[in-house]
Parts: sequence; C-alpha cells; structure tokens
Amino acid sequence: GPALSVRDLDKAYGSSGWLVNRAPTQAAKDVNFDIPMGRTLGIVGESGSGKSTVARCIMRLIDPSDGSIKVAGAEIAKLTRSEMRPYRKHIQIVFQDPFRSLNPRWTVGQSLIEGPLNLGQDKTSAMKRARELMELVGLPEDAVDRYPHQFSGGQRQRIAIARAIAMEPDVLVADEAVSALDVSVQDQVLKLLDELQKKLGIAILFITHDLRVAAQICDEVVVMQKGRVVEHGKAASVLGAP
Ligand code: ADP
Ligand code: ADP
Repeated sequence: GPALSVRDLDKAYGSSGWLVNRAPTQAAKDVNFDIPMGRTLGIVGESGSGKSTVARCIMRLIDPSDGSIKVAGAEIAKLTRSEMRPYRKHIQIVFQDPFRSLNPRWTVGQSLIEGPLNLGQDKTSAMKRARELMELVGLPEDAVDRYPHQFSGGQRQRIAIARAIAMEPDVLVADEAVSALDVSVQDQVLKLLDELQKKLGIAILFITHDLRVAAQICDEVVVMQKGRVVEHGKAASVLGAP
C-alpha cells in the first residue's frame, strides 16, 4: 500500500474547546490523496488555503475533525498523544526555519542523535550514523562537532533534512522547506531531496506556495483553495512542464 493515505480529511478550528461560541474556521474539507513510497506529492495553494493545516493533521500536531490518515498502513487520525508515540518516527518534518528542528545550543551531532537515542539506539552507533548522514547531505563528517549558526542557511536546511532522515521515516513532510532560500540554493536543496528519495525510497509530502519549486520536485500535485482540493493530478499537467 501507499506510504501515506489521506481520506476525507476535515479540520475546523474553534469547533470544540472553551471558545464554542466562535464561528469555526473550516480550514480543510474533504482532502484526499495517497503517496506511494519513492514518490513526491505537492500541496500547493495561496497563503491561508489550508496547506499547513493538512500538514499539522498528518504530523498529529493537531487533531483532525474527521477523516482517515494512514501511515505505512496504520490509522493515526484518532490516536491520542501517547498512542501516537510509536508512530512519530514514521513521519518526519522539515520546516521553513531549520531552527524549529535544531537547538542552537547543541552541536549538530547532538541534534541528530536526539531522536535515535529516544528510540533506544546507543550513543556510539547513533553518532556514527550522524557522521554518515552529514556526507549523505553533502556536508563534511566533522560538521557534527559544530553548531548550527556556523553554517549557511542552505547548509542548515541540509542538517535539518539529515535530522529527519536519521529517524528512517516512511514519509518526509517538507513544509515550505526551501521557501526562505535564494533560488540557486533552493535548486541545490531540491536536488538533494531528489537524490535522497532515490537512495532511500521515502515518500515526500512537499508543501509550498511556490509553483516553480513544486514543478521541479513533485510527481503529483494537489491544489488547495479555501480548504478544499480544487485540482489533483500529475505535476506536468497541473503546473506545466518545469
Ligand atoms: P496555509 O498553510 O495554506 O497558509 P493554513 O492551514 O495555515 O493555510 O490556514 C488555513 C485557514 O485556517 C486560514 O483561514 C487560517 O487563518 C486558519 N487557521 C490556521 N490555523 C488556525 C488556528 N490555529 N486557529 C484558527 N484558525 C486557523
Ligand atoms: P504557518 O507559518 O505554519 O502557516 P502561521 O504563521 O500561519 O503558521 O501561524 C502561526 C500560528 O498561528 C500557528 O500556530 C497557527 O495555528 C496560528 N494561527 C494561524 N492563523 C490563525 C487564526 N486565524 N486564528 C488563530 N490562530 C491562527
């Protein structure tokens, strides 16, 4: 089956909790898509169209109002915070700001081994893997001994990608992951994601407002408008050739 399968996903903000009298915002409605292993699906749309809401539901940073989310076959849409714990490793996210994944006070190595240590890996093998991951993302092995601020923005994003990959996820969510970078650096990071996908066979959910970027990396594209999917098809037919 697909690495990620989303069915009839709905999210209304403000429909529960103590602000019950406020009109709910239907931020996502009837969202459907699958991502097979080794493929990249893009979610594109203007600011406020519901892209991040879908990503936050899939990451289970927020509770979906309704619908199904299956990761590697497991239904996660209704799991509680603690029930979700064993599934977290399967979906990893790279944000626009790499400092959402990297602690500025920790060495790169410390950030990279945090997740694997939590999963019970021993420190020596986790750090050995962290060095290998640096090479995999195009940085020197000894980058693990340095701090995030000692790198450029593009290099920091490579490190954030390495931190996600360290968990051996099935699905990598890129939420505006190249949007803050210069165009030439964007292209290098997109090339890296493409290479990693070929090597590791992961599924990528690529969220962006930038159609040029989407056309470069996506196999399939979902277009969102006001919380709804208004188009869904092959990237070349939805966006035109890159
Ligand atoms: P995008 O990622 O495409 O910019 P979002 O998913 O962030 O879109 O937002 C979709 C809609 O949901 C917008 O109308 C936004 O204002 C609203 N929204 C997002 N987060 C919240 C929230 N925590 N509470 C209430 N409304 C929200
Ligand atoms: P992102 O960059 O991830 O789309 P935003 O900058 O849109 O996030 O929003 C920052 C925070 O504010 C998020 O936690 C989001 O859930 C919340 N938020 C966004 N829109 C609204 C809204 N209309 N009402 C309440 N909270 C919102």
